[in-house]
Amino acid sequence: MEVHPTGGKQDGGQDGGQGVRQDGGQGVRQGGQGGAHRGGARPAGARVHSARAMAARAVDLCVALLHEQPSAESAESAESAESVASVASVLRAHGEEGDLGLDDATVARMRAAAARLREVFAAPGPGPAAALLNGLLAGAARAPRLTDHGGASTWHLHVDSGDDAPWDEWFLASSAMALAVLLADHQRVPGGLCASPGCGRPFLDLGGGSPRRYCSTRCATRERVAAHRSRHAPSGADGAGPGLSGDG
Ligand SMILES: [Zn+2]
Repeated sequence: MEVHPTGGKQDGGQDGGQGVRQDGGQGVRQGGQGGAHRGGARPAGARVHSARAMAARAVDLCVALLHEQPSAESAESAESAESVASVASVLRAHGEEGDLGLDDATVARMRAAAARLREVFAAPGPGPAAALLNGLLAGAARAPRLTDHGGASTWHLHVDSGDDAPWDEWFLASSAMALAVLLADHQRVPGGLCASPGCGRPFLDLGGGSPRRYCSTRCATRERVAAHRSRHAPSGADGAGPGLSGDG
């Protein structure tokens, strides 16, 4: 089956990673419970619905749901409100509009979906990643169908049960499809998990070079500095090389 939602300009300039830098565009999944959707000026470009854009959105949602939990001290009610707000802001950054209709229970189910998607990024190679994705698709995806959300967007594929499917179903099915398309396109696991201890955030990695190890330049820099310091630790008194800052 050739599920290939990529419109045209696939390998655009943007690198993967935590890509909340899509240029707005219009709703990827419009409609939904709120329904109050004004379509806006013109249908969004194909890039909004590309596998790459959908996978970047999946990464951002996984990070928001799994790695940016509110502090443990927050009261339970404040915690869930923060979670809902954080997920909503990611969805809006990726083009969703109107009343999103997110609630605690939905976000909790989305968090469970995020944990399953994150396993794909942890897979040691394309074979195991494909097996995980096949399992997700078998459980969560329906037959592909084309929708333009009543003229509010360009035509694109959905694999959820309907334009008003619950957010968690939509999230799991559309993310699994996007990652599967990218795996087939690039013949590799389309991302990884940050190697920085204490981070572990998922990231996209579609480049042809050596695999990325870190989710961000911040994590990469932190680890480089840590490695440098441990090489030049004052323990052995073997002469500190040209240190970064001298204090070891
Ligand atoms: Zn990281």
